[in-house]
Amino acid sequence: MMDSLSGSLKDALKKLAGKAVVDRAAVDELVKNLQRALLSADVNVKLVMDLSKAIRTRSLDEELPKNTNVREHVLRIVYQELVRLVYASADLKLEPQVILMAGLQGSGKTTTTAKIARYFQKKGMKVGVICADTFRPGAYDQLSTLCAKINVPCFGNPKVTDARQIVREGLVAVKDQEVIIVDTQGRHALEPDLIQEIIDLNALTKASHRWLVIDAALGQQASEQAKRFHEAIGIDGVIITKMDGTAKGGGALSAVAETKSGIVFIGAGETIEDLERFDANGFISRLLGMGDLQALVEKVQEAQMADEVDMEAMMKGHFTLRDMYKQLEALNKMGPLKQIMSMLPMGNMQLPEGVYDVTSTKMARYRILMDSMSPKELDDPSLINSSRMQRIARGAGGTPEEVRELLKYYKMMHKTLKGLRGSGGGKFNMQRLMKRFSG
Ligand code: GDP
Repeated sequence: MMDSLSGSLKDALKKLAGKAVVDRAAVDELVKNLQRALLSADVNVKLVMDLSKAIRTRSLDEELPKNTNVREHVLRIVYQELVRLVYASADLKLEPQVILMAGLQGSGKTTTTAKIARYFQKKGMKVGVICADTFRPGAYDQLSTLCAKINVPCFGNPKVTDARQIVREGLVAVKDQEVIIVDTQGRHALEPDLIQEIIDLNALTKASHRWLVIDAALGQQASEQAKRFHEAIGIDGVIITKMDGTAKGGGALSAVAETKSGIVFIGAGETIEDLERFDANGFISRLLGMGDLQALVEKVQEAQMADEVDMEAMMKGHFTLRDMYKQLEALNKMGPLKQIMSMLPMGNMQLPEGVYDVTSTKMARYRILMDSMSPKELDDPSLINSSRMQRIARGAGGTPEEVRELLKYYKMMHKTLKGLRGSGGGKFNMQRLMKRFSG
């Protein structure tokens, strides 16, 4: 869906270039391309028609905002309507909660239960899991093995066939955990007793969330499944699994529309780490081929540095040693600089190899050196003369040579960032990106 949509959108948008007013024929062609791409990705026909109608009407009726060309205007509307199609990301808080997992057999429910346990665990929360899938033989073994790997307690009893009894005992067994995830049974088709069981489990657990796990390849059936589960327990989040194995995923979007709940996570692989927090903006950015900005944001947040590293100010050329300190700290938590840079939408721009050439031990040294600098020096590195260098080195148990090297690195970073700015990467701003994409 991603590649073909991005390509056909670009072609259709080209036709709007240079027009003074919105051209009906060009909008129609754009909409037709969008429709083709979405339908081939299994998005429900009605959804596609609604989306087309909204894009067509808004493009033609809405007044062109000031300083916006026709192409930007239409692209913005397409973007907004696509975001609306996937809804906003479903709610997820780091607080004590009970999560009830729903879904058909084979959807990836058990694997995803363990992945979510891992997700909360990485966020520093105490997690417990209950296996209430009494239908599928081996479900408990599978789940308890996965949980054992990450040291998460998993309650279950393969000999008991009554899921309600297991959950009652399980709630006692894992009562000390902050996040409790209950894996329920799934079958090939929705049967009345399965629905009754999940209604009972929802009541028993007083679940804070009821998440529906949907296989990305499920297609149009997803809509019906989602509807039935939603009527029974009120689904408040959807998880799309196996996004690594299919170019589709449109069926799952139908499930989202059916429950009006938003996507919580995307599963994209078989290991316990292969779970991404869903973000509508990121999803659409990818859809439009605009670089994986959102994945970067997520990484930064994981490192809990989101509001401390002011990327924008930095890219504007305001870059002090203090910024570099924060950046080194963030990078330390985020991983190799090269990987981070590859996620930024800067195309094939080459950076000097030296920028990547700082090992984590060296980074740690730089931070220690910077710790012995004064606030003034951090804000204005040009103050650092040779006597200051000696003082800094002494304070950090190092040599003036080291300080000199650090300043050299700082200068290189500064220059590189200025260069990025010149090449058009100056502002991490969606609008700007979209302009570049459409222009
Ligand atoms: P359940 O019956 O719903 O509990 O399904 P399982 O959790 O047992 O998963 C069914 C199969 O799908 C297993 O082989 C999983 O490894 C696989 N699976 C689950 N999630 C993903 C995913 O995101 N990507 C891929 N490639 N495989 C997945």
